[in-house]
Parts: sequence; C-alpha cells; structure tokens
Amino acid sequence: MEERASIVIAGAGVIGASVAFQLARMGARNVVVLEREPVPGAGSTSKANGGIRAQFTTEVNLRMSLLSMEILDGLEQEIGEPPAYRKAGYLFLTDSPEKFAAMQKAAEYQRERGVSVEVLDPAGVLNRVPFVAGENLAGGTFGARDGFIDPGRLCNFFVSEAARLGVSFRYQREVSAVEATSSGEWDIRTSNGEAILAPVFVNAAGAWAKAIAAMAGVDLPVEPVRRHLFLTGPIASLPPLIPMTIDADSGVLVRREGDRVLIAYSNPDEPAGFNTAFDPDFVTRFAEALDSRFPSIAAAGIDMRRSWAGLYEVTPDHHSIIGTVAGRPGLFFVNGFSGHGVMHAPAAGRCVAELILKGRSESADISALSIDRFASGELIHETMVL
Ligand SMILES: Cc1cc2nc3c(=O)[nH]c(=O)nc-3n(C[C@H](O)[C@H](O)[C@H](O)COP(=O)(O)OP(=O)(O)OC[C@H]3O[C@@H](n4cnc5c(N)ncnc54)[C@H](O)[C@@H]3O)c2cc1C
Repeated sequence: MEERASIVIAGAGVIGASVAFQLARMGARNVVVLEREPVPGAGSTSKANGGIRAQFTTEVNLRMSLLSMEILDGLEQEIGEPPAYRKAGYLFLTDSPEKFAAMQKAAEYQRERGVSVEVLDPAGVLNRVPFVAGENLAGGTFGARDGFIDPGRLCNFFVSEAARLGVSFRYQREVSAVEATSSGEWDIRTSNGEAILAPVFVNAAGAWAKAIAAMAGVDLPVEPVRRHLFLTGPIASLPPLIPMTIDADSGVLVRREGDRVLIAYSNPDEPAGFNTAFDPDFVTRFAEALDSRFPSIAAAGIDMRRSWAGLYEVTPDHHSIIGTVAGRPGLFFVNGFSGHGVMHAPAAGRCVAELILKGRSESADISALSIDRFASGELIHETMVL
C-alpha cells in the first residue's frame, strides 16, 4: 500500500526547511521532506552570500524582509551562538548625483514603511567605510538592521527543530513524478521507488523547481543562473566587521568573511543554465572597478581555490513565486527567489505554512507574488537588484 502523508515538501534547502519548521511549529503532523542530496542545504543555500536587507523599492520585497528580520530576532535565543543573523548593515554608495537622488527617494519610501535607513553625505559614507576610495562620492544610504545570515546555520536550525517536532526528512530521495489522482490527492514518486499520497505538495526545489512543476503540469518561469563569489587573501587593515558595501556605480559588493573579504559581482551576460563551473577569468570583469573603489581589498588578491559559483533561481521580474495555481488544488510553490532566498526564507516559510493550514497568509500580503502575474502582465519592478 502507498504511504500517506498530510504534506510532502520537495527540497531541503533553506526554503523547504523553513516551510517544514513553520508547519511543525503551527502543529502540522505527518509532514515529509524529500531531498535528492545526502544532506540539507546542499543546493544554492550552501553557496549563498547570506546578505539580508530591507533596502528594497517594492512593497512586497520590503515586507518579506521586515517579516524575516522579525522572525530571526524572535529566534535569536533559540539559535544561540554564534548568531545566525548579524546586523552589520548594508551601505549603498555612488559618485553619481542622479543615482544619489534615486537612493534618497528610495530611502524615503523605505522609511515610510518602517525601515531604518539613513541617508549619508560623502563624509558620512567615509566615516562608516573609510576603506573605500571616495574622492568623488555623491553619497549613500545605510540600513542598520540589514546584514548577513549564515545560510547553513539557519537551514540546519530549521531542519533540526522541524525534525524534533516530528517532520520526516528523507535524503537521497529524488522526486521523479508528481501526479494528481482522481481522489484529489498528489501521488509523489521518487527515483528509488518510494510512493507517497498527500493532499498537499510543496515545490521548494530551488533552481530545479521548473522540472518539478512540469511533472505536475505547470509551466513555472524559474531559470537557473550561475553566480560567482570571490574570496580575497587575508586583510589585516580592515575592521573585523564591515557593512555589506555596495558600489552602486559598478555593482561590486564586498563584506568581511573571517580575516578575508568576500566579493560579489553579477554578470549581466550570464546565460541561463545549470553550469556551476567556477571561472577564474570572471575576475577580469570587475577587477578595474574593485581596484578603483576598494584598493585595499584589491591589493589582497583573489584566492581562487576558496572562491566558488552557484545558482540563482531567477524569475522574469526577479521576485519569488509563492502560492497556488488555478486547477491544481493542494499544489504550492515557493520558488524563484532571484538572489533573495536566504533573506526571505523565514518569511516565506511562515507565509506558506499559513496558506496551507489557514487558507491565507496572515503575516504578510503576498498576493503580488502569485504565479498569475505572468499571465496578467502584472510584473513587479524592483530597482535595487543585486
Ligand atoms: C553565489 C550566490 C550568492 C547568493 N547570495 C544571496 C544573498 O546574499 N542573500 C540571499 O538571500 N540569497 C542569496 N542567494 C540566493 C539563495 O542562495 C537562494 O535563493 C536560496 O538558497 C534558495 O533556497 P532554496 O531552498 O529554494 O534552494 P536550494 O538551497 O537550492 O534547495 C533546493 C533543494 O531542492 C533539492 N532538489 C532539487 N530537485 C529535487 C528533486 N527532484 N527531488 C528532491 N530534491 C530536489 C536540491 O537538491 C536542493 O537541496 C545566493 C545564491 C548564490 C548562488
């Protein structure tokens, strides 16, 4: 006889783990998580930079970040030391008076919605990040509640807590078929021959979500896109904690990672695909910008052996897809976070668990993230994309 579960989740990355955690906390029982890899978080979660910010220009991104921050603050004692969420701040800076004007407008929009963000003149920028070359600075903004999350630590906390409350995490189980039955349930099969019937199936398969959606007959617009992170050699001259510092003119961002600095830069020409090969030549794309804005960091050199690439899971408007789809009752998506999956995981888990158990997301209005927006042309436009 086929096994029965109340809820099956595909994927034990930070998103699937957060959904499982919230479901368990809200009292759901008989929840099963199927993960292809031997350990949780082995997909994009383990490759992430871990930045969290509320400096966004769309209502829904901003709300998701604020809800995540609230949840993380509430879990601080439980997660323990070292903290999974470090409020080092995000500092955006620019030489361009036009960009600075747009930043000031964005800051006003954010402040009206409860985000603590400070507008900085050139001296204010240099006071916070004295290591930048800032002879021509126009200004910047600083969000004190922004910072970094340790993605692996957060994912593992969600997994262990959900497991303690009874969620069954099963590894090396690749979901290979998902079909609606005539009795209105989902018949979920794995490549090693398991079969589970459940009224609710959650797709939390990150960059691989499109394939799982296709099994259930849905065209999900989520594409994998490679993204690099580079670690420098040791740098003694910088303080141990610096804000995530973003040169809005070049798109180069830096933060501390131990005694080194982690550098991110997005390649606008990167084609969609599952290529995660690390390309050392990619450095040439941002070397000049790094040298002119962050000379002391450039001087430390890149440690190629400790740098890596992973996959963003990207939607056409760089916003996640959360919720159900018409004609597929019991099928839930929590996909396409487009570079924001770690920071929005706490909120996404809460919202999806509420949708499943209470029929609506009570903690945040996520209606804008419905998959329907692609058919109706109501795409969301975010200007602070990294
Ligand atoms: C270089 C880089 C930097 C990033 N920086 C940030 C950042 O600063 N801030 C931020 O918020 N986000 C960042 N991200 C994005 C973030 O990593 C992702 O949005 C987030 O990890 C998505 O979590 P997930 O659980 O959906 O995906 P994943 O962690 O990829 O988990 C999905 C899981 O599904 C499993 N799976 C797939 N197919 C199947 C199947 N058929 N059956 C069973 N299991 C399956 C996979 O094995 C995987 O474990 C970054 C990403 C990269 C690559």
